[in-house]
Amino acid sequence: MSEDAKTILLVEDEQAVRSAVQAYLERENYVVIPVADGQAAVKAFEEENPDLVILDLILPKLSGERVCRTIREKSDTPIIMLTAKTEVEDRIIGLELGADDYMIKPFSPRELIARIRAILRRVQSAEEMTTERLDYGDIIIDLSGHKVIARGKEKDLTASEFKLLTTLAKSPGRVYTRTELVERVLGYDFEGFERTIDSHVKNLRSKIGDDPRKQRWIHTVHGIGYRFDPHKEEGSY
Ligand code: CA
Repeated sequence: MSEDAKTILLVEDEQAVRSAVQAYLERENYVVIPVADGQAAVKAFEEENPDLVILDLILPKLSGERVCRTIREKSDTPIIMLTAKTEVEDRIIGLELGADDYMIKPFSPRELIARIRAILRRVQSAEEMTTERLDYGDIIIDLSGHKVIARGKEKDLTASEFKLLTTLAKSPGRVYTRTELVERVLGYDFEGFERTIDSHVKNLRSKIGDDPRKQRWIHTVHGIGYRFDPHKEEGSY
């Protein structure tokens, strides 16, 4: 992995916020591509191939949701959603669309930088993982190739979902609390982000075809967290 400066696509229609965040990111040596609407965001994403996207939810021309969906159709590039809404349901909208994280406005620039660093570190460590393969028969996780084959079919996971699955699958049977998963998968320690893990688990299950009512691989441990168990028969409890 090169030490080259990382490029961040910053999508924010409020000029004051955009300028402030841009200045802060540049002070941290990131290369910033600032855009003010959703259409410009999609265009800049395709042309500039950024390392990370900071994406406001409410935007002119094309909403942040649409932009997020469009990017996810072809890329796993990390996305941090910005939202002014405070309802938990609204907050997790971004994660359901495949964003890696979200920030509620107003946020501290320091916290934003911490999140960016954590996400970029996660992507890097996922890329640098040594050759290793977890083969549980109907699910195979190729750590070096960053691939998951569930029931014979290759699945397309985001960096966070892949990290979540490998964290659980490396220690089958072990129960991880939500807090542990926040630290290991998201790479930071903030209170109240357990819901983020639930949302990632939901996306992961849906992508690998793990029915939440039958729980073939990822099992909910009520009131605590999650556990990977590849040995249980399908449909058994
Ligand atoms: Ca906005």
